[in-house]
Order: sequence, then structure tokens, then C-alpha cells
Amino acid sequence: MLRSHTCGELNKKNAGKEVTLSGWVDSMRISGKIGFLILRDRYGKTQCFLGKNIIEEFGEIRRESVVQITGVVKERPDNQKRDEPTGEIEISTSTLKILSECQPLPLELDDVVQTSEDNRLKYRYLDLRRPVMINNLTMRHKLIHHLRNHMDNKQFLEITTPILTKSSPEGARDYLVPARLHPGKFYALPQAPQQYKQLLMVGGIDKYFQIAPCFRDENARANRAPGEFYQFDVEMSFVHQEDILNIIENLMIDLVKNLFPEKKITQIPFPRLNYDDVMKKYGCDDPDIRKDTKNPDELGFCFVINFPLFVKQSKEDFFHGAGQEWGPSHHMFTMPHEDDLKLLDSDPGKARSYQHDLVLNGMEVGGGSIRIHDPKIQQQIFDLIGFSKEQAGEFKHMIEAFTYGVPPHGGIALGIDRLLMLLMNEPSIREIIAFPKNKDARDVTMDAPSKVDKAQLDELGIKKK
Ligand code: ASP
Repeated sequence: MLRSHTCGELNKKNAGKEVTLSGWVDSMRISGKIGFLILRDRYGKTQCFLGKNIIEEFGEIRRESVVQITGVVKERPDNQKRDEPTGEIEISTSTLKILSECQPLPLELDDVVQTSEDNRLKYRYLDLRRPVMINNLTMRHKLIHHLRNHMDNKQFLEITTPILTKSSPEGARDYLVPARLHPGKFYALPQAPQQYKQLLMVGGIDKYFQIAPCFRDENARANRAPGEFYQFDVEMSFVHQEDILNIIENLMIDLVKNLFPEKKITQIPFPRLNYDDVMKKYGCDDPDIRKDTKNPDELGFCFVINFPLFVKQSKEDFFHGAGQEWGPSHHMFTMPHEDDLKLLDSDPGKARSYQHDLVLNGMEVGGGSIRIHDPKIQQQIFDLIGFSKEQAGEFKHMIEAFTYGVPPHGGIALGIDRLLMLLMNEPSIREIIAFPKNKDARDVTMDAPSKVDKAQLDELGIKKK
């Protein structure tokens, strides 16, 4: 190792020990013949005292250069101690090596951002050095770790599903991938692993989850990452709707208790609210139930249930993949309420469904449903949303699977990025993603999307218009 310790761990107990630290020059101050260098890494900052010889040899070292420092840990006199994790000590540097010199920076790395978002994203690898960003990524890691542990303890299996697959409508446009070996045909990137997780239930995996990448060609919003995002995806067999809500409620309570102990959940159990009531009272289907909506440490979770099965297609809210009249409120695999099955023929707009949304502080953070497992009802829904024979044919594997013994099942998926954004009090989803797309769905760091060679297109049998 090029270090014996990190920049965040030394204290007076280490006094007298020779150590080697490696990291970035956070700042440097020369006063006369001596100097102080603050060395930083992911774990913290350590002050290093530089004597005359080192100052004479190196002079001012550029900020953000990577250096290696060896020296002895010295306890600071009481009046120089700082209330910081390494504030009791400093390193009396004996050797310093510049491992990589930093050129003038294209952006400042202050805690308060002073540059445009695109500049931050272009130099994301620099932006990530800021402690706020390191903390956001650390919390993202912890959250995912927590989800995995919690589900593992409850006997859920984590199963990965294909990325190159077939269009599976969740309401957005698909990303298509040309299939070289099958000219004229395309894979689609999954908008969600919806069909696979249902097929896993047919396969007898009664408790499934996945940290699933999902791809939807839609426009960016503060709370929506364009292009791709990660879902905590869950499916279970032999359950009622309430069983799914309980699993998620317990998981959220456990998560907040362990990772965000300073936060208070407004109401436990989370209220289960009727769609109609919520629309009447709040005028939207993602109500903020907190008493004090300005308090970021209050978490108002609730479930909204009894959604209508369909919504009228509109320009603003168009379910891509469905016809012109009705779009599924959730998706086309959601089970109609059994009391409303008769309405499907006479008044489909009035039929309720077994959809459930999880809402946190006025934002939808998850959605799911009990699924249709009767092929006849599934066919009826396809007809109602205006599927042609060919469109319905694209789902014949589901209809067929449902003829070989399918357990009643249901599930839910939570948007990991959005959930974390709310828990971290960040104003934009892009703050908690390492390399997010910008508002125009471009990857500014790598400059994607980008042009491709004519030879590549020829190989794929694609001609530009
Ligand atoms: N696939 C759904 C979605 O992405 C979630 C679900 O129904 O479980 O919204």
C-alpha cells in the first residue's frame, strides 16, 4: 500500500508513530520558511507540518495534486487542537513525494457550488471529490446494502434479469438496440423487469428482488433522471395487497432507524389512503401528509390505493404502447378490483385496480400492484387499451405462461435515486447519482450520445435518414 493510514483516522493515540499518508493537497500555507499542508482523501483531512528542507525543495505545491507524505504523528498543543476527527494531531513530515501534479482546475471544489451544472458534470470526477458528494455516494451504498440485507433476512432472492430484451411498456418510450445478427430487428432496454419478475413467480421463485437498472426515454425533471435509473424491484407470490405494503413499510421503518436516525416518521403505520379521497383533499395523487412540510427531518410516508385501472390518454400523460383512448393508470398487468370486473365492459373508466403507490413527502417513490394471473382477464385488458392482434401477440409468452399453473402474485418497485434524494434533502436527483445524464439526457462526462462510424451502421444494416 502507498499509505499506512487514511487521512481521517489518526488521533492522539497514534502520537509518536511513523505513518505514511497519500491523498490530495486540499490547501497549503507557507509562512516564512515553514508550511502547513492539509492532505485530504475520502475519509477526511489531516494537517501536515512541512519544515524548511521540504519547503525549499518543493515550494508551493498545486492544490489537488496527489502527494505521499511520511512523518511522525505529533499531538498538537491544547491551544492548537481543533474540534475535527484528526484535530488533535498533525504529521511532522520527513519525506514528501509528488505522485501526480494537478494542472489549474477547470472548476472550484468548494462546498457551495459556483459553476454551471454542465461544467460540474463534464468534470464529474473532480466534482465527486467534494465531501458532500462523497457523503451522498456513501449513503447510496449504505442504502443499497441495507435493502439487500433486509431482503436476504426475509428469504428474498436477488435475481438479475436481462438488459437486452424486448419492449415492455411501462408508459415511456423505449430505447432500442439494433440486433446485428437479426437484421431489421431490435432489442429494447427494459423500462422495468416487470414481465421477467412475473415469470419468476411462474417459475416458483416466490420472493424476488433486484436492484434493477431501468431505461426510459423521457424528459428530465428535478425528481426524474432521464434515460436510466435504478429501481428496488420486488415481487411475491401468494400475497394480498396488504402483505406487500407491510413488507415495504417495515423495510422503510428499519432503513430510517438505521441510516437516518435523526429523522422522524410522521405516522406509523403508514396511512393507507383511497385515491378518490386523496384527490378530493389534496388535488393530486401524491399527497404530503407532514404536519410541518418545511421540516426536512420529518418523513411523511403513506400508501395510496384503489386507483382507477385506466386513465384517459392525454398529451401530457400519454402511455406509450397503449392506444388512443385508455392508458393503464399503472401498467397493463395490474389486476382490476374483483368487484369492478363487470365494469370493464360497461364503464371501464370507473373500474378500480389493485395498484398501490408509496408516497413520501408529497412525491411518489414507488408503485406496484397485485397482478392479473388469469389469461382471459389479461386479454380483456389488452383489448381495452386498444391493442391490435399483433401488439397483443408480443405478450403471448405471458398469456401462455399463465396457462401452466401460476401463483397469484404482486409486487412493487421503489425508485432508489428519488428515495435517496428525499432522504438526503437534495434538491435534484442528479446529486445522488455518480454520473447522471444532464437535463438534455446527455452524458456530459463521456460526451454521449455520439456519432458512430458508417462502417458500424453498415454492419447493423442501418441507414441514416
Ligand atoms: N414495474 C413497475 C414500475 O416500474 C413496478 C411494479 O409494478 O412492480 O413502475
